[in-house]
Amino acid sequence: MVRKFFIGGNWKMNGSVAQVKSLVEGLNGVDIPSSTDVVVAPPFIYVDRVRTHLKREIGVAAQNSYVKASGAYTGEISPEQLKDLDIDWVILGHSERREYFTESDDFVGEKTAHALAAGVSVIACVGEKLEEREAGTTAQVVTRQLKGVADKIKDWTNVVVAYEPVWAIGTGKVATPDQAEEVHVTLRKWLADNVSKEVADATRIIYGGSVNAGNAADLATKPNIDGFLVGGASLKVPDFSTIIHSRL
Ligand code: PGA
Repeated sequence: MVRKFFIGGNWKMNGSVAQVKSLVEGLNGVDIPSSTDVVVAPPFIYVDRVRTHLKREIGVAAQNSYVKASGAYTGEISPEQLKDLDIDWVILGHSERREYFTESDDFVGEKTAHALAAGVSVIACVGEKLEEREAGTTAQVVTRQLKGVADKIKDWTNVVVAYEPVWAIGTGKVATPDQAEEVHVTLRKWLADNVSKEVADATRIIYGGSVNAGNAADLATKPNIDGFLVGGASLKVPDFSTIIHSRL
């Protein structure tokens, strides 16, 4: 099964009007291979501006969305509103949201279901903390998180799963290709056993955590690594471009 390579750029809470303008201009100059999906996720406040000025070959994602279409939910943004602005993707369940905004597996599942119902595709993130890896519970943690999503949705067509070990995010400590591949295999097997063989074969599982221009090609050689979710290096156009072209 050939799964289309997927590269996401998570800008997190970074950028200014000037920096966003320069990132968009830079990205508009990057050649996007037809074999690769590329999506960037600016902070909410810049999403509309980025979608307006960025070339259409590159998708735009939000970094979060809520479980209601509209109403008295101060500070929240709905997937319906994202759709209204032509924003086709959203990152949900990022470890920073789980950690700092206490998002549960169940809530991430609910948000995923709501986004999909609104027609917004989802990058659903899972990943263990260092203490969980050291305790030998990595597989248990990531499959529990994946179950939170699986319990709430039926159609996986518009879902990309991102495996992002928390100890590798923003630390410069990338997982080795073997470490990442092992967890991707675990996640794929869980999908095969608990959802279906078809969904397991077709769903892209991407890796995130200190991916950079120097380590992406090595990781991309692994059969179960279908792309990357890139934080820091997505703010540097030449590095992000190298990562986009990392699968030979
Ligand atoms: P990083 O972040 O590439 O800066 O480690 C990845 C992410 O959190 O998506």
